[in-house]
Amino acid sequence: MATSASRLRVAICGAGIGGLTFALALSRYPDIDIDIYEGAQALAEIGAGIGIFPRPWKILQMLGVEADLLKVTETKVTDGPVAAFRYRKSDQREGVEIFTLVTQGSLALFHRADYQQTLLNHLPKRCRIQCSKRLRSYVQRQSNPIELLFEDGTKTHCDILIGADGLKSAVRAGVLGEKAQLAQSEGRWKEASQILTHVNPVWSGTNAYRALIPVEKLMSLAPGHRVLTTPGVQYLGKHGYILAYRISGGTLVNFVAFVSRHHLENTVFNGPWMSMVEPSAFAPLFAHWEPEVQALIACIQEKVMQWAIHTIRPMRSFVSGRVALLGDAAHSMTPHQGSGAGQAIEDAYILATVLGYPGTNRNTVHRALRVYDTIRCPAAYKVMELSRINGRYFTFELDGIDLDTMPPKQQWDSLQHIRKTVVRNWEWAWTTSIDSSVQEAVHLLEGRT
Ligand SMILES: Cc1cc2nc3c(=O)[nH]c(=O)nc-3n(C[C@H](O)[C@H](O)[C@H](O)COP(=O)(O)OP(=O)(O)OC[C@H]3O[C@@H](n4cnc5c(N)ncnc54)[C@H](O)[C@@H]3O)c2cc1C
Repeated sequence: MATSASRLRVAICGAGIGGLTFALALSRYPDIDIDIYEGAQALAEIGAGIGIFPRPWKILQMLGVEADLLKVTETKVTDGPVAAFRYRKSDQREGVEIFTLVTQGSLALFHRADYQQTLLNHLPKRCRIQCSKRLRSYVQRQSNPIELLFEDGTKTHCDILIGADGLKSAVRAGVLGEKAQLAQSEGRWKEASQILTHVNPVWSGTNAYRALIPVEKLMSLAPGHRVLTTPGVQYLGKHGYILAYRISGGTLVNFVAFVSRHHLENTVFNGPWMSMVEPSAFAPLFAHWEPEVQALIACIQEKVMQWAIHTIRPMRSFVSGRVALLGDAAHSMTPHQGSGAGQAIEDAYILATVLGYPGTNRNTVHRALRVYDTIRCPAAYKVMELSRINGRYFTFELDGIDLDTMPPKQQWDSLQHIRKTVVRNWEWAWTTSIDSSVQEAVHLLEGRT
């Protein structure tokens, strides 16, 4: 129950990376009540790796979780230049090294469950988490408290609702429903139906196949394999690529194979979005690739997780009244810049900053949410587009150019063009910081700009 002294009662729908980071950031303001409603029966991230770039990492430092996160990562985190990933052209018998991605500061690699558990350990007791609480819908009327309706038939109330409920967000459906209703009531019929096209996710045309390989197994099969000695490797080729890096204290290799059919982007995927499939579902594409790739695939004998990567069409706003979206609920993107979670962390920090701002209360919260929207909506969608472009370059989808039919010199020039574009589009993740966004938020809240 909310305390009578609380300045705001905030309900967070979803306890994934975004929801938990937001709860942690908001818990720095003791006069704000926080309730987290998670649809799953228990808090359990799907076992796979996640990379955090220096920009979101600095936020985690500011939230005081750095020391504990360092205990569960293989990465030796530093502020200096780091060779984060090696890129190879691998869709041939003998692979070719294209470049090494050097970041300023480390890309910290985690097992998702370790990351989630660390955040949970830091959440103060006053943040109440309830599992098996799947939000069905909400009702928001003028200045009344927002009513939350759950699948189990129960109801509760809050001042502000934050939808951190991921790709298939129920809160996003509510936000867009409200916007469409308003457009309809003002006779903007076409706009109303256009708004509703953003409710359902669309397939990106790419499937990811994820497996965890015991390092010992790779060592015995292929001693000296590049993945055993390098922070991370990306094996690129036509229509797909493979990402491999060590996690969980160096005991496991996080393996992800991407298979892309870009012409099917924004279509409907036929079949379950997540399912366990035989390695034969992805292995044929890589059959003629270099031996290092074959060694990794040979380590995978069990079924793997097939993940049909879905995104949402960019919306004009993350906010409706006193309801706001964050993370995948707002901007589910392809994983080709390894930044979906990073963007959720940025949303979480800025949203907590504007809600925690001393002048924010039940009467002024609309303004705070507008500031959040102004800053985060364009920024997140820019990253979403850059990630999409990376996905094309990693699979050699270069405006009709076919690398394999080119003379060697021209092919090398094209590979270097890929390098330059990928690095230029990605540098924001280690050359910029959240500080300027925080300053902008405070300026806007103070009415100084
Ligand atoms: C293959 C792959 C690799 C990736 N690698 C990276 C990477 O290296 N770095 C990176 O930054 N990002 C990466 N991402 C993206 C990242 O995983 C997501 O962007 C991130 O997990 C989003 O977090 P979230 O909290 O917004 O959503 P989620 O993690 O989806 O959490 C949503 C939560 O809400 C709950 N929920 C859903 N509906 C309801 C409801 N109605 N009521 C209550 N609760 C509900 C869910 O159970 C879940 O716990 C990758 C994604 C993929 C697919």
